[in-house]
Amino acid sequence: MDKVLTKAVNIMRSKDDCKVGQDVNAIIIETGGDIYQIYIPSKGCKYACIMCNYGFNHPIREKEILKALDVICYRLNPSAQTIILEASGSFLDDREIPRELQEKIISRVAKTNVPRVQIETHYKTITEERLVSIKRILEGKEVGVELGLESTNPEVIQIYNKDIDLQGLLDTIWLCDRHGIEVSLNVMLGAPLLTIQERMEDSINSVNWILQKCPKSTTIVLFPLNIKKYTLIRYLYEMGRYEAVYDWEFIEVLSKLPKEALSRIYISWWGNRCNEFHGEEAIIKPIHCDDCHDKLMKFYNSFVKSETSADKARLISDISTICCKCKDEFEMRRNRQGKGEKSYPKRLEKEKNRLRTELGV
Ligand code: SF4
Ligand SMILES: [Zn+2]
Repeated sequence: MDKVLTKAVNIMRSKDDCKVGQDVNAIIIETGGDIYQIYIPSKGCKYACIMCNYGFNHPIREKEILKALDVICYRLNPSAQTIILEASGSFLDDREIPRELQEKIISRVAKTNVPRVQIETHYKTITEERLVSIKRILEGKEVGVELGLESTNPEVIQIYNKDIDLQGLLDTIWLCDRHGIEVSLNVMLGAPLLTIQERMEDSINSVNWILQKCPKSTTIVLFPLNIKKYTLIRYLYEMGRYEAVYDWEFIEVLSKLPKEALSRIYISWWGNRCNEFHGEEAIIKPIHCDDCHDKLMKFYNSFVKSETSADKARLISDISTICCKCKDEFEMRRNRQGKGEKSYPKRLEKEKNRLRTELGV
């Protein structure tokens, strides 16, 4: 992680009074397609990615969490197919959630009828010993892990300030595969300091990289960057140095992915997620206008429910034919930007210099 970016991220996170979420308990979030996320408020992520505000410092209240979890599991929709366990960072990080509590939570979920359990965590928290233990607790269920990646371009990974070594990540993915654990990788659309065209290509290249190098069971969750409060990306946006992602940009990326692989591609954060701070929505979602809102939402909802590549390809093809003024606006913005100047590392250096001056980092 870069020192300047990390300091800048921490300044943005510290603008919140840190009281947010301190009384949050385990909660369940329905994300569509019979998938449910169970969020466990944790100590907060030790990393400092520039689009993320997971710097909370929730006190871990084991008793309350387990009590809330009991209610969640008892009331779980019988049609639920997948439970995703997530924390304010990495579920398997012992610093965030003590190991014993992690195991109690997994054991509780093991007693539900849901056929599939997925754990969201940083790839560095995964070891062979952990995989064996989790598989044992969840015997009889399909087990998966969801890992943040965002981009497979090392220069873009640096811009996001992510702590990822691609070879290390690949080794972990193949380790999971050997243990019969499916991996789902998050890929983001909307890298800062890149032009709209470049960031679209970055997402497409990242998906193709995964398709070429990872086991066939690996799935991909593609999502447009949501601009969250208390993040460095929000600061860049407010300073006029970051452009929000358009829905039509996201759809164009989907349309350029290999059609035969669409069954392995899922979407998230397409405008269906909220991130409340102090009772107020704290994210700027992808941009579209009122005229196409209903059509876009219908498309996304149908996409998450579709399973085959052919169905997904048909939905993308149908939505792509729609004309709208916000789609024209997106095209105009993209064309106006033209080609990006300078290499990505040079752009990052320039941005860091600005942050040094503006924030004193
Ligand atoms: S994106 Fe993931 S790794 Fe990065 S700060 Fe947020 S929770 Fe941590
Ligand atoms: Zn529109």
